[in-house]
Amino acid sequence: MNKLNKEWHLHHRMPKNTTLEQRIQWHLEHKQNCACRDIPQKLKEEIRKRKPGKS
Ligand SMILES: [Zn+2]
Repeated sequence: MNKLNKEWHLHHRMPKNTTLEQRIQWHLEHKQNCACRDIPQKLKEEIRKRKPGKS
């Protein structure tokens, strides 16, 4: 089931020229507000790299 949070998407458009940081930030916020799609595997790995110490 896709729970699209239309309202959130309206206010959080992904800009065209995003940096990796921005995309990560977008997806982290997106995940907390909407479930229409998952974080891409590649981005997940980047997020993991950025959060060391979580065993
Ligand atoms: Zn969404």
